[in-house]
Amino acid sequence: MQYKFKYTIWDDKYFPGFKSKVNEIYTNSCNSASILNRKEELQTIENFFEAYEYYYIALIRSGIVDRNNFYNILERLKTLKKVKTVKKNNGAVFGLTLNGEIYINPTIPSNGNLSSKAVRQMIISHELGHIINSSWTDSSKEFASELSQKPAVRRILQKYNATNKDYIKLGLDLVDEVIVQEMAEEVAYKIDEKKRPEKKIYTDKSYIGNKPYISNYTYYGEFQTIVTEFARNLSFLECNQRTPDEEVLRRLIKESFSSGFINKLKYEILKDPARLEEMILMLICMGKIKDGAYAVLGLSATADRNVEIYFDTLNVLFNQKRNNYKATSASAKC
Ligand SMILES: [Zn+2]
Repeated sequence: MQYKFKYTIWDDKYFPGFKSKVNEIYTNSCNSASILNRKEELQTIENFFEAYEYYYIALIRSGIVDRNNFYNILERLKTLKKVKTVKKNNGAVFGLTLNGEIYINPTIPSNGNLSSKAVRQMIISHELGHIINSSWTDSSKEFASELSQKPAVRRILQKYNATNKDYIKLGLDLVDEVIVQEMAEEVAYKIDEKKRPEKKIYTDKSYIGNKPYISNYTYYGEFQTIVTEFARNLSFLECNQRTPDEEVLRRLIKESFSSGFINKLKYEILKDPARLEEMILMLICMGKIKDGAYAVLGLSATADRNVEIYFDTLNVLFNQKRNNYKATSASAKC
């Protein structure tokens, strides 16, 4: 079974091994389609690969692919093992990435802003983002435990009562979630040739106490601002308080899609003892929020469901940064 590519740019000279690898993944996916729902599953696979091609093209066209991350993105996209269909009784899950395999629900949720093709593209792009980010998320558990073993970090975790779970890793999971959703939104609006919507205020998440949050995402909107502000504080992204949110996230995506991301993050967290507590506290809060979100989805039985306090803590930290910036730029003018 051969995949018929929809786009002609995949020259082996520029994208070595890509076409043959995609063919292999396609064949493996088709071979594992069930006998009972074969027609529907083959159609889901067909749709997936069209979106897979478009996702990569959108990354190139939007300038996300650069000299730094080109090789990593290409190699990571080739690591996808198989595409499967979400089981019928799991109707609420639209996409899932597990052990290098992507599960896609043939039923596309409706969305007032986008065509169903674009919504499908968004769901698939989100999961493909997780595949690219696996270059660092696969090792984030070791990264977190290595960090937690440092006496200074352990003291901070104890101080904030955060030793019972791997909150640093969960915090990084939250960063991953926003990176892949930001790119997925961008690609979905691109395929529909529409402008991204303006941000709005929402208050629809009970697990954050229905607190207001600002977002223009279809999914995971409550995480958008906190990860943007976290990224604004990463000095290797070279942002300041005036850098537009979209630009902050764009720089974050480009870095996270390159292989050096996790080491830059480690260096950033550890380089300045005066900032260590603040960096770890940000990760703990994001980890507690991610854990709470897992609980809402029924994926964590032990989680603290009331995560409002961690949103408040993050907002205090980010506001401090903003005020310090204002103070220093004001004095610079004198
Ligand atoms: Zn996800």
